[in-house]
Amino acid sequence: MNRKTFIKSLALTGLGGATMKLSALNKLTNPLSSTDQMPVLFLGHGSPMNAIEENEFVAGFRKVGKEIPKPQAILVVSAHWETNGTFVTAMDKPRTIHDFGGFPRELYEVQYPAAGSPELAQETKNIIKKTEIGLDQSWGLDHGAWSVVKHLYPNADVPVIQLSLDYKQTPQYHFDLAKELASLRNKGVLIIGSGNMVHNLRMVAWDKLNSAFGYDWAIEASEKMKKYILGGEYKPLINYASQGKAFDLAIPSPDHYLPLLYALALKGGDEKISLFNDKPVAGSLTMTSVKIEKA
Ligand code: ZN
Repeated sequence: MNRKTFIKSLALTGLGGATMKLSALNKLTNPLSSTDQMPVLFLGHGSPMNAIEENEFVAGFRKVGKEIPKPQAILVVSAHWETNGTFVTAMDKPRTIHDFGGFPRELYEVQYPAAGSPELAQETKNIIKKTEIGLDQSWGLDHGAWSVVKHLYPNADVPVIQLSLDYKQTPQYHFDLAKELASLRNKGVLIIGSGNMVHNLRMVAWDKLNSAFGYDWAIEASEKMKKYILGGEYKPLINYASQGKAFDLAIPSPDHYLPLLYALALKGGDEKISLFNDKPVAGSLTMTSVKIEKA
C-alpha cells in the first residue's frame, strides 16, 4: 500500500484526523517529512576524552540538546572524515569508529549504536548539484560525530549520517556546497559541523591540558573569528589563509576549521546566531561552539 492510499484508508476507517494528526502520521510513513526549520550547530569537539569525561563542555552539549527541537535525523560534517570527492554514509547501522590512539581502554569501549539513514543519504545525494555525492558503505561514525552527538542524544535514538570533506577543494567550494544542504533543515534534519575553530595539536600546552589557557595568537584568532561570525562577515572567514599569523597558527590544516564554514553557510538572513562553550583549552585549541536558529 502506498502512502496516499494508507492515509486514505485511515480516513475511511475513522482513524484519521481525530486520533492521529497528519504530522505524526507523516513521521510514521516518511522519515523525511516537512518540519519547521531545524537549527544548525557547529560543535567544538576537542579531545576524544570529552566522550567519557564530565566537564563544562559536555554540559554545554547536553544543554543545547535540550534547547533545540528533537531532530528526525542528524547529518554531521566531521573534521575526521576527509576524502577524495564527497561521500555520505549510507549504511543502516554505522559502526562506532575509534579513530585515535593512546587513550584509556574505557574510551575504546564506547559504542554509539545510532541507526544510519539510507533515505537521508539518498536525499542528500539528490539535492547536491555541485558534485556527484558517493554513497559510502564502509565508514561509520568517527569520534568527531559520536563523541559529541552522544551528549546531545544519549539514547542513540536519532539516526545519524556523515558527510565527508573533499580534501582537494577550496574553502569557498565547501561554503557553496554547504548551502545546497539547506532544504534538509525543513525535513527534520539537524546539521552539525564538528571540529574546532582554533586547533593546533603541535602547539598544545601539555602542562595545561585541562585549563582554560590560550596562547596570545589563539586568543587573537578566536576573537577575530567570533567578531566575524557574530557580524555575519563570512568573507574573511572563507579567506582564512590570508588573515595573517594568528590565523595561520590557529588553522595549520583546514580539517577542523571547515565544518564551521558548513554551519555558517546555512544561516538564513533572519536567523540568530549565538556562541557557547566559548573557551580556549590547552593553549592551542578553542571549544567555541555555534548555534544558529530562528530569531
Ligand atoms: Zn578532532
